[in-house]
Amino acid sequence: MRTTNPFDDDKLHEECAVFGIVDNEEAAALTALGLHALQHRGQEAAGIVSFDGVQFPAHREIGLVGDIFGRHSVIQRLNGNAAIGHTRYSTTGEPMMRNVQPLFADLEFGGLAIAHNGNLTNALTMRRELVHQGCIFQSTTDTEIIIHLMAIRRGTVVERLISSLRQVEGAYSIVALASNTLIGVRDPLGVRPLVLGRLGESHILASESCAFDIIGAEYVRDIKPGELIVIDENGVHSHFPFPPMPSRFCVFEYIYFARPDSMVEGTSVYEARKRIGMELAKEAPVDADVIVPIPDSGVPAAIGFSQAAGKPFEYGIIRNHYVGRTFIEPSDEIRHLGVKLKHSANRAYITGKRVVLVDDSIVRGTTSRKIVEMVRQAGAKEVHMRISSPPTTDSCFYGVDTPERSALLAANNDVEEMRQLIGADSLQFISIDGLYRAMGQSERDQDSPHYCDACFTGEYPIPLTDMDSDQDSRQLSLLSEIG
Ligand code: SF4
Repeated sequence: MRTTNPFDDDKLHEECAVFGIVDNEEAAALTALGLHALQHRGQEAAGIVSFDGVQFPAHREIGLVGDIFGRHSVIQRLNGNAAIGHTRYSTTGEPMMRNVQPLFADLEFGGLAIAHNGNLTNALTMRRELVHQGCIFQSTTDTEIIIHLMAIRRGTVVERLISSLRQVEGAYSIVALASNTLIGVRDPLGVRPLVLGRLGESHILASESCAFDIIGAEYVRDIKPGELIVIDENGVHSHFPFPPMPSRFCVFEYIYFARPDSMVEGTSVYEARKRIGMELAKEAPVDADVIVPIPDSGVPAAIGFSQAAGKPFEYGIIRNHYVGRTFIEPSDEIRHLGVKLKHSANRAYITGKRVVLVDDSIVRGTTSRKIVEMVRQAGAKEVHMRISSPPTTDSCFYGVDTPERSALLAANNDVEEMRQLIGADSLQFISIDGLYRAMGQSERDQDSPHYCDACFTGEYPIPLTDMDSDQDSRQLSLLSEIG
């Protein structure tokens, strides 16, 4: 049985979120709330591991955070002053309980719980080596590779983690708990986000700052690319164990993944999206009557577009927030209705109007085509589509669920062909330089771009070792069940 939303498969999906807190009597309850705020980064399964001074109570389950941890009895069992948590989005097929994080292992130094957002790009290569050495894997997640590497090393937990991470490649933001020590680390390029917060005397790590707001904590700062932070009874200590590299944060976090009320790299995601919409209006003006977002993710860019264009912004499309899991396995007939179940045209602001639809991306193009058709049926005189990202031409291998390249509309069609396929009167995407301008750069530096933008440019900043070597694709898909 498929449990991912069958009507939401025309978007890229963040695969995971992490949260960790120490020195707080309500550690598990606060972790559950933090994960609830991070639910947009993964809706398949969630887990929390706490430390009660002796044991590491754990609860992992398939489902939404509120359904899993809303039960008082579950939280009560997760006692202790420290906890880490994780939500995940599994890419394909049956969600597997054995892959639900945080993972836990008893190692030489004691218990270790670990949770990971991202994707190791040499996971299969490393796994083969470790299996050859006799390691017995319990899951198909790449995160378990780090546990095995730590198990066969010597030294303190931090020394083992550092030496293990020096062997892996890829994008990772990790939180780990060893007794009352909370550890957070970002990969050397800082592709995935990780932020530090504070609630009274308690320190918190989370994928996004929106997880702090829900529990009344303050955002302190972003963990730096390549930084490993250790939080224990001696305070907060930073290590920089990797050779310094220019950072390559995922620009798609600004465009779509992160929640608009989050601060990323000190920048408001909402503000960034508005600026992208403004830049898009400058690059791709259109004579129209009304600017309409594809809700929810297109809203801030549409506001920016409307302000820069001097045209009214209206909710010409209304989103039904309660569609999805009711229809676990829709028939083809019902699936065809999908877009209408999720979006409906607000005729009062559409009929007889020249409409500009603003969305954040086009992935397969199926949703865009149906929305254009729906807006036309509602009586729009013209339908223009503006997209606040450059064309998505390449897949992501750094922790975001993307269809294979062959399924990406922009990989196989130029913009005019895409326009014809979705049936719009005009279609324009923000340029890659326009995106960088909106993010405060003068243009994309071709030699050293400020962000990871591989899904728009095909320039991957971290080697794709498993892809590049002669690997069995069936085994690669096995490792697609990742955090
Ligand atoms: Fe983000 Fe795209 Fe890079 Fe993946 S490839 S990390 S989605 S910018």
